[in-house]
Amino acid sequence: MKKLVFALFTVVCLLIALPNVSSADDAVQLFLNGKRLQPEAPPRNVDGNIIVPVRLVTQELGAKVSWDDKERKVTLVKEDTTIQLYIGRTDAYVGKVKYVLDVAPVIENDVTLVPVRFVSQEFGLKVNWDDLTKSVSLFRQAVELPSVTLPPASVSPSPSAAPTPKPTLSPSATPQPGASGSPSSTPTPVSSKSPSPGASVSPGQSPASGKLAQVQSIKTTADQIIVQLSETITPNFFYLSNPDRLVIDLPYAELSPALTELKKGNEGEVASVHPDVAKLRYATFSNEPPTIRVVVDLNKKIDYNLVDSKKPGELIISLKQARYKVVLDAGHGDGDSGAVSVTKKLEKNFNLAMVTKIAAILEKESLIDLKLTRSDDTFVELDDRVKIANDWNATLFVSVHGNKYNSNIRGVETYYTRSDSLALAKLMHGKIVAASGNPDRGVRTADFRVTKNTNMPAILCEIGYLSNPAEEAMMFTEAFQNKVAAAIAQGIKEYLHIP
Ligand SMILES: [Zn+2]
Repeated sequence: MKKLVFALFTVVCLLIALPNVSSADDAVQLFLNGKRLQPEAPPRNVDGNIIVPVRLVTQELGAKVSWDDKERKVTLVKEDTTIQLYIGRTDAYVGKVKYVLDVAPVIENDVTLVPVRFVSQEFGLKVNWDDLTKSVSLFRQAVELPSVTLPPASVSPSPSAAPTPKPTLSPSATPQPGASGSPSSTPTPVSSKSPSPGASVSPGQSPASGKLAQVQSIKTTADQIIVQLSETITPNFFYLSNPDRLVIDLPYAELSPALTELKKGNEGEVASVHPDVAKLRYATFSNEPPTIRVVVDLNKKIDYNLVDSKKPGELIISLKQARYKVVLDAGHGDGDSGAVSVTKKLEKNFNLAMVTKIAAILEKESLIDLKLTRSDDTFVELDDRVKIANDWNATLFVSVHGNKYNSNIRGVETYYTRSDSLALAKLMHGKIVAASGNPDRGVRTADFRVTKNTNMPAILCEIGYLSNPAEEAMMFTEAFQNKVAAAIAQGIKEYLHIP
């Protein structure tokens, strides 16, 4: 790192507090017909009611929106349904029928947020809250769903992040007593336009017998998950990260009395003997069609596949340790020398020597696949370094640099940008400080392109100061490089839980 850039980042570090760890990662996830939606602002959970940006309603549900500044009124129109909502008020109108909302629409940071359950149901969508994965699923009615496609989500909230919204399927809006058109005899005021019988959560085939398959047992072995059903059905799978979970949906299924008995509240839990499975949880996900959801809480990322079973109704899912893709990035290269040391040695050469040594250690790890952004003295654009990691869908990204300021400053700095990189930054920083013997200058945030625009945990390690004579002398010795390279390799292994 060059002097000017270092000075700039010192200022940036002072100005920027730690990133808001609780923002996007913890947000409630939204799915529409299995596709994960990415609204302009994260959905919010207000006392168990989810509110979402109104633009999501217009874009995804195909409604037209208009705004009345005087009345602070949002009008949503789709086909023959007109919904009127008022900012900060819980009264709402569908046509001329008045409803009382459990949560009022709000405007926050210029984004209008409206209650998703009320609006979606009034527009004829089925709304499903899944407590197991803390997500809201919307389903358009009477559409042909493609086969075996449920949310291809890669990021999701942690299960404990948000307060638990009401798990019931009752609407968040209550019709005014006596209001014309409100079907007071049923718990849902939208029953008149509610899902056609064919609306389905999953496209799975119902069992040939026409009966629901009963889920009789859910268990793990040392390398498999085995679910025994009374009938053969086609399950749907998807994977959620942060934390790692495998979700198995069993359409046209119900729980056996024994599994129903084991439930505490809405969900049941099964202990695991699989080393990488913390536990399994199950619950009824939907009634249209009846669908049981099993969530496999994993201790680490894992590859899964359905194994053929000869036994009727038996689902065998084999779990295999996932391979990890590690990108090592030697900073600078070719015409971009990086910092020039007190004895006129070049940072680019130090970085490459370090990365080469780290790679030599990690190449021996059977669970790690490696990629180097450069393995010789060539120049790679920052955006290309990012692209290499993102295109490869890397598990993590480690960039190695040497620092420069004045001759008095020395020590290790480890940088990250996104909150998902903090754990890796902290772990690696401790390793480098201990192995190098250089002073601890802290884990810091900065907007480096390679740590900001990568999609995976990404850090930039400033091993020491090439402008400090003592540190510089050490940094160009084989002994120092070997020791610190071993520490970085060890940090990567520890982060990936590789023994
Ligand atoms: Zn550098």
